[in-house]
Amino acid sequence: MISSPGCRSISRKLAADGRTFHFDPSRARSIVAAVPKVAQVEPITTARVLRGPFDYVCPGGATVGSVMTVPFGGRDLLAIVTALKDSSEHELSEAKELLPFSLPEDLVALGPWLADEYCSTPARAYSLMLPPRGVKERSVQFATAGRAPDEGERLTANQRELLATLPRPAGSDLAALRRLEKRGLVVLEAQSQRRAPQHSEVGKPSGASGPPLTSDQAAALEQLLTAVPGEQLLLHGVTGSGKTEVYLRAAAEVLGSGKTVLVLVPEIALTPQIISRFSERFGETVAVIHSKLTPGERFDEWTRIRSGEARICIGARSAVFAPLSDIGLIVVDEEHDSSYKNDGDPRYDARHVAARRATDHGAVLVAGSATPRAESWQRLRRISLPMRVDQMPLPEVEIIDLRGASGSLHPATFQALVDSRKSIVLLNRRGWSNYLSCSSCGYAWECPQCDVTLVLHRASGSISCHHCGHRERVPECCVECGSVSIARHGTGTERLESELPGKVFRLDGDAADAGVVLRAFEQAEEGILLGTQVVAKGHDFPDVELGVVVDADQTLRFPDFRAEERTFSLVTQLAGRSGRGSERGRVIVQTLTPDAPALVLAAAHDAPAFLADELARREALRYPPFSTLIRIICSSPQAGAAQQAATEIAEQLPGSLGPAPLFRLRGRERSQVVIKAEDRRQAVEAVNLAVGRVAKAAGRKSVAIAVDVEPQ
Ligand code: ADP
Ligand code: ZN
Ligand code: ZN
Repeated sequence: MISSPGCRSISRKLAADGRTFHFDPSRARSIVAAVPKVAQVEPITTARVLRGPFDYVCPGGATVGSVMTVPFGGRDLLAIVTALKDSSEHELSEAKELLPFSLPEDLVALGPWLADEYCSTPARAYSLMLPPRGVKERSVQFATAGRAPDEGERLTANQRELLATLPRPAGSDLAALRRLEKRGLVVLEAQSQRRAPQHSEVGKPSGASGPPLTSDQAAALEQLLTAVPGEQLLLHGVTGSGKTEVYLRAAAEVLGSGKTVLVLVPEIALTPQIISRFSERFGETVAVIHSKLTPGERFDEWTRIRSGEARICIGARSAVFAPLSDIGLIVVDEEHDSSYKNDGDPRYDARHVAARRATDHGAVLVAGSATPRAESWQRLRRISLPMRVDQMPLPEVEIIDLRGASGSLHPATFQALVDSRKSIVLLNRRGWSNYLSCSSCGYAWECPQCDVTLVLHRASGSISCHHCGHRERVPECCVECGSVSIARHGTGTERLESELPGKVFRLDGDAADAGVVLRAFEQAEEGILLGTQVVAKGHDFPDVELGVVVDADQTLRFPDFRAEERTFSLVTQLAGRSGRGSERGRVIVQTLTPDAPALVLAAAHDAPAFLADELARREALRYPPFSTLIRIICSSPQAGAAQQAATEIAEQLPGSLGPAPLFRLRGRERSQVVIKAEDRRQAVEAVNLAVGRVAKAAGRKSVAIAVDVEPQ
């Protein structure tokens, strides 16, 4: 069989995993006479009360991890086989169909674990692990050479040309090729064709093994390769210190030893560079998984990983469930990034799941960052890359005291922007103004669904809610008193754009066109990249001279124990984006609190000192990693119901904080209870019990309860 890029022989696959096998109950009776007879399954449903396992007649060929459809309460549900056994005390139904793919056993075991860790259900956990539903393999007719033409055999010019271009997909020449097939000159065969993700430049690996390592990189690699199976390490290295090169080398070694590699990165749209570097070095064996893939692409990548055809998987959060076998290395790049935490149920943290998979597989886990989390700093063995590969000194960070200044840009900041060819400016507020109020009566425009003010977007002529998307036309006069004097408060990126000198590339956290804006900025000779915190994430622009944090207090004041860490990280990451070419970079941080330790230590590029302080503070206040936080949010459209449910939950959980009302969101009142626990498992169990009881109480239909273990 001659193979071409992206094509595999279907017949081989059919034999290997029984792709078109449909369960036939009439045949099954004889098959199930052999052990095992009973399959324990977990049906895939979002209902919390339907919790398996349930017993069914085991179809022939089913194993732990098999996926089948089963009749369940009058409908058909997808179900995962979690165990096989010889007998059952129940009367058994038969499965309807055995699907042509299965979960590996370690993922089957991970389901209930995930449910316990995050107060969810195994079914919800499994639905994260399965490939997309209803997707079929795509096949094309592929032509290869048959017998050689006899001497003097009659062939048209076109036919000669077709024969000269074999092997290849039939494409639009299918009819002509069929005629040649009849004469035995061509063999046509259906082949499955991979739907390759568009942006992944898979192709031939360059074969290059990368530049010679610096001595720091070599030492880091050595530590990774000699780590004990299951060990977790923290690679602390400033941006540009060559962390990715270390991952690449470690991956090559691990592949060479016959094992596989999982690489987790923050949102893919913002970090295309790491994918292309892996693809360049390793070619087709790299599979990419993230939320922007079409279902077909996702299915194909999943299948390539499951079959062992792809042995490196790179992806965002959800890739932590990639069906890799025998993982030798797990990389968590930019481990401080908050996108590793899932927003929906199960509210898993991919970093925590990655650690569990590393333990299961005996894989070495390496978490990399210039600004590691306090948790990782304390828990993991540290390796450090203290210098940039290019030997450039880190940029100089100036703190500018904004007290007494007017306007959102200090004159010194403005001048620095004028003097720099390319700059990045960070302001964590979208829109023109935060809110509008009536200058006569004080009325403020708020969202009718959420208790928040509406943000002015001047270009679209609207005021809108950043929580639910509610939009209104910009008001011409006050709805209360009719006054036409309306004040605009605060500055967002839209307004700042109009105040900046020179060409501005605005990036507003909408990842859909982020790639386009970033490429335009990259190619520009000069200009300013302006945006919310996405501008501080892993882009690699060689020629940025200046970075500006317009309002550092905005993140510092955020009511959350991670506010300091986030601010330190933001300033340090932005510093990492500037001065990567030949010029030393410069960073300006504008603030009303110039003495805040997070800012002073970020300016001194002193992560170890910052993290030591931060850990001491958290220990004193019993915050993670010295405790586990669990947040329970009750919400209801019915007045008072959420607060009532939260009160009952708090009463059952001694030592909990709350209930505390939160702002109304999408027409639902909300109230939260927070628990700081010594023992995570015990606390999760107690919460499950309390939530279960309160949810069952009469008249609670309107209350939704969400549990978030280790909220971000
Ligand atoms: P990080 O992941 O820490 O930001 P990278 O691995 O991306 O760092 O390295 C930064 C730049 O330096 C990249 O352009 C990379 O190709 C280059 N680089 C990395 N290691 C070396 C090396 N040993 N010699 C020369 N260039 C290197
Ligand atoms: Zn008014
Ligand atoms: Zn709203």
